[in-house]
Amino acid sequence: MKSLLVANRGEIAVRVIRTARQLGLRTIAVYSELDRDALHVRLADEAWNIGGAPAAESYLNAARIVQAAWESDAEAVHPGYGFLAENADFARRVMEAGITWVGPPPEAIAVMGDKISSRRTAEEAGVATVPGATEQVTDPERAAELARGYGFPVAVKAAHGGGGKGMRVAAGEEDLAGALEGAQREAQAYFGDPAVYLEKYLVKPRHIEAQIIVDDHGNAAFLGERDCSVQRRHQKLIEEAPAPGLTKKQRAALGRAALAVAAACGYRNAGTVEFLMDAAGDFYFLEMNTRLQVEHAVTEMVTGLDLVAEQLRVADGRPLSFQLGETKVRGHALEMRINAEDPAADYLPSPGTVADYREPAGPRVRVDSWVETGTAVSQYYDNLLAKLVVWGRTRSEAVDAAKRALHEYRISGVSTTIPAHKAVLDHPVFAAGEAHTRFLEEEVACDAQPPEAGAGQESGPALARRSLTVEVGGRRFDVAYWAPETVAAPGGAPRPSRKPPSRRPSAAGPGEPGMVTSPMQGTIVKVSAAAGTRVAADQPICVLEAMKMENEIRSPMEGELVEVRVRPGDTVSPGEVIAIVR
Ligand code: ADP
Repeated sequence: MKSLLVANRGEIAVRVIRTARQLGLRTIAVYSELDRDALHVRLADEAWNIGGAPAAESYLNAARIVQAAWESDAEAVHPGYGFLAENADFARRVMEAGITWVGPPPEAIAVMGDKISSRRTAEEAGVATVPGATEQVTDPERAAELARGYGFPVAVKAAHGGGGKGMRVAAGEEDLAGALEGAQREAQAYFGDPAVYLEKYLVKPRHIEAQIIVDDHGNAAFLGERDCSVQRRHQKLIEEAPAPGLTKKQRAALGRAALAVAAACGYRNAGTVEFLMDAAGDFYFLEMNTRLQVEHAVTEMVTGLDLVAEQLRVADGRPLSFQLGETKVRGHALEMRINAEDPAADYLPSPGTVADYREPAGPRVRVDSWVETGTAVSQYYDNLLAKLVVWGRTRSEAVDAAKRALHEYRISGVSTTIPAHKAVLDHPVFAAGEAHTRFLEEEVACDAQPPEAGAGQESGPALARRSLTVEVGGRRFDVAYWAPETVAAPGGAPRPSRKPPSRRPSAAGPGEPGMVTSPMQGTIVKVSAAAGTRVAADQPICVLEAMKMENEIRSPMEGELVEVRVRPGDTVSPGEVIAIVR
């Protein structure tokens, strides 16, 4: 293998290109029109424009990507994660074009891409799954019957779900019909398939997953586990390896179970088998991700392996670079996802332009990122800016390195998850290694960011925090001050607002209580109330999608909805008036 096309963007494209170059491969990037000047494009040997900003026109455009691979004479395609990484058809098309697919066989992707068939596979392999069904449920009566069998709470989950979407929890029988309908609707909207099934909703479990890699020479390696329990909206925010407190016996059993699932679906290449662990220490199969995970870096830090290099070897038909049993887990690693979102406002996405960016460095620190000062963080793609990964000989050394690195991190212009990471690292439950999947949302409070900026701003003019460095008597001081924000740039074009979004994305304009304005840049995906009708306070008016997340824009008051200025498909800017209630 001498050349590799990376069918992705952002930090993972940069990360894969780095290893490929180290291995002496010719690297080929693809980019959307919005990413013309992105870091992954500049790092690659060559780059091909694959279409417009919306992912459907570019990074999800399988035909165009295969054509770019063909035209650039790429010998292999690495899909990264997200986009087409778990699309069995794309894998097939790449292979049919005579190009090496850096990933598992399409059949394994297909069986594991459906949570119902993956649960069946795990059960056939003798691995315990989260108690629940291996059948699609459509009828509320049948759902109630099943739920009574498992005991409430239960989760209704999309068979093709991902990214924490398409899942509703019913605390009791009275919630079940609503949860069923909601999950079906979300499953249809996001995954084009309304199939859902029922699972027992485990109370405060830990999310523990096993990294595996299998080659074509009979080697199937378990490379240790990761604990990914620090989550919001059922999505991971902090991951670590190894999982705190796991016994040798539990670890060995986890590895055996993961490899049994992999064998049962004919798996090759790198993959992750996810489990939930209950308070008794028993673990249950959740799903398998048939690709490189975002959090693979923590496994690399504790094993010393380069997982992308191993993936390329396997795809090339060569054996793993190490002997089974030779890899040892050394020390402890933590990964903090630095996302453009505001922890103080329910983790609302925060697209915008990065005004100032400085990464931490120094001992024990690795940063996988794609942003620089001036990078526009678009509403079109997910909001992961960087992964801060640290290593220590012990977990507490890793935590200290993480705190130091977070202290150094400077990102302005967009809100980030950095304050949430600081709050988690300082929390006694996390320090004790006892975080469960509800810990972040239920037990960690995050101040507004920057702490002072949001205070008392709901009705007054917006202030954005600015800083200034002064020298007084030969000593430097960093001074923060608050000044009214200018929204309109010269020429009248709206600039990204620096105002911290209100807790609910229903910000009424200053002094005009019925003006419903957009809290951020995004695309309207649904209008749920019609002009001329009466609306209640907090009633949803429309749904705004930004950074792969849907946000309901609600009425700030009760009254008549006199005007709705948007339609599905419209792009809106921060501060733009969406509707008027009187
Ligand atoms: P997705 O594919 O959308 O990421 P997963 O099935 O992997 O969904 O679950 C994501 C997260 O949702 C888990 O890490 C866990 O926090 C929560 N979750 C999913 N299923 C259950 C369940 N049955 N009980 C409790 N929590 C669950």
